[in-house]
Amino acid sequence: MPSRPLTVLWRAMSGVRSVFALAFACVILAALASLVDPLVIRFTLDSVLAGKAPELPAPFDSMLASLGGTSYLARNLWLCGLALLGASLVNALFSFLRGNLSAVAAERTAKNLRDRLAAHLDALPASYFGQASAGDLVQRATSDMDTVRRFLATQVEEVGRAVALLSLTVVMMAGIDGPMTLVSVPVIPAVFAFSYLFFRKIQKAFTISDEAEAALTQVLEENLHGIRVVRAFAREDFEIDRFDARNRRFTGETRKLIVLFGWYWGISVLLCAAQEAATIGFGASRVAAGLLSAGTYLAFIAYVGRVLWPVRQLGRTLTEVGKAMVSLGRITQVLNAPDEFSRDRVRLINTGARAGREPRGRIEIDRLCVEYEPGKRVLADVSFTVEPGETVAILGRTGSGKSTLAATLVRLVEPSSGSIRLDGVDIALIDRRELRELVGIVLQEPYLFSRSLRENVELGTGPLGEGELERASQLSGLSPVVASFEAGWATAVGEEGVTLSGGQRQRLALARTLAKRPRVLVLDDTLSALDTETDAAVRRALGGETTAAARAAGTAPTTIIVAHRITTLMGADRIIVLEEGRVADIGTHAELLSRPGLYSRVWEIQGAGGFAPAPA
Ligand code: ATP
Ligand code: MG
Repeated sequence: MPSRPLTVLWRAMSGVRSVFALAFACVILAALASLVDPLVIRFTLDSVLAGKAPELPAPFDSMLASLGGTSYLARNLWLCGLALLGASLVNALFSFLRGNLSAVAAERTAKNLRDRLAAHLDALPASYFGQASAGDLVQRATSDMDTVRRFLATQVEEVGRAVALLSLTVVMMAGIDGPMTLVSVPVIPAVFAFSYLFFRKIQKAFTISDEAEAALTQVLEENLHGIRVVRAFAREDFEIDRFDARNRRFTGETRKLIVLFGWYWGISVLLCAAQEAATIGFGASRVAAGLLSAGTYLAFIAYVGRVLWPVRQLGRTLTEVGKAMVSLGRITQVLNAPDEFSRDRVRLINTGARAGREPRGRIEIDRLCVEYEPGKRVLADVSFTVEPGETVAILGRTGSGKSTLAATLVRLVEPSSGSIRLDGVDIALIDRRELRELVGIVLQEPYLFSRSLRENVELGTGPLGEGELERASQLSGLSPVVASFEAGWATAVGEEGVTLSGGQRQRLALARTLAKRPRVLVLDDTLSALDTETDAAVRRALGGETTAAARAAGTAPTTIIVAHRITTLMGADRIIVLEEGRVADIGTHAELLSRPGLYSRVWEIQGAGGFAPAPA
């Protein structure tokens, strides 16, 4: 079931909820302290200076009596100043504590949320990233996350403060003078209603501006990734224009937000000023009529200021709440996307499908169909079997579904119907992590990380012994590459492997997969960037592990290899020809040559260069 944004936030607050509660307590104490000084002013004016009988609660009354009554205070007026100072100090102390506590709690909550998002992004199925844009995801993980963090650090407390100040002050005013209170508050609900309308508007505007920012990040991200293409095609001007257009859109949307703010501030300042004028005017007439003391009048003016301040602040606070809700919603959307493991867990618990079985590496593909879009079959009724240790090659035109077939073997893509069985168990019932231990794939476009050569090879295995490292690099033909670099294994690879040649990248990717010693090896066009000679050497080395002896010992991996080169194809035990997602033909090199079809045509075209006798 999808989580709601506030549930997500509540969960992220685990461990610091008590800190938030403490911060709230400080908010209320600070608000209480801030209510004291108008009372001190009123007391000083009315009781100490004008000599009216003070109306103090019992404990204060006896305290005053022990000091020597109001006449003592009249002689030592500095004591009243001291009381004001004391109230301000208490206010300052609790405000300071509240700021610190909520900052600590907010940082922790944001950290929890960030960790959760990062872990979730890592667990999302590959298909998710086909639809989502990286720029947008980066935006959610950084800018949106920061909006939520800032909201937690400042605005949550601000909401508490506004509510506490407002309700406490109104109660206090009502306790001092009823008619004055009635005149001093009518604007409050009006500003509330107005703020709410504004809140709705700002939320919409912010969603738009946030999405505009995401689009901007997207262009920047694409440009940095594709910088070589941009340069090679002299597309700088075009890309700058594209960035400029999106930047202008973002600026425009932000300006709309600012204009909205301008309106809000203007109108709410006007409303608040009207409220203050009403209080001052009505109070003055009551003082003139002798119905109100000067001290109470001054206290009311101070209180009205104090009530109106959070009311005026409300717009800003609501804006921040609005923004934070939008950001939190965007983060929650990602968190609600089902990760690829959660569905598995439910199914795996009941099966324990592979438990205790020794992997052999037999692959049976049974009427496999794959659709990326409903109704459009990229693979249709593909069936074939690969025995343990066998090598099967796949040939097909571009777009015929070879990479899709390879990806389904490690469940990067899920079939729409049909099944793939590994040693008799449907791979849909095998835990993905376990499956990916058993089946190693070298992707058509392998991604290399900007780490050392060694770390790239150890990506799927963790630290390797020298022997294992040597084996993997021998088999993949990486050894001469490592030897050619001064720093050897420690050589740093540039981002996405830019500092390596295409062939070096392929060997590194192959070594990385071989290091895992998978039972089933899937090579998606992996040897294409190698020259024919190196390709042959690598295949010989791989073949060495696939000899009959190795097969008998059960060490040779079952190999499925996508290739275009006839020399790579002809060495396989069987060749499968894919056409438009269907198996057009299966057979050995000799069998396929004896029939017309794609394989014979490829043989004619490529074979004429080296294998077929030169025309007389
Ligand atoms: P090539 O020889 O060029 O590598 P291929 O045989 O590996 O081609 P696939 O990558 O399997 O081809 O693609 C088969 C079809 O599926 C293509 O028509 C492609 O447009 C489509 N396709 C591949 N990946 C996706 C995807 N993630 N979403 C939608 N369609 C896709
Ligand atoms: Mg492909």
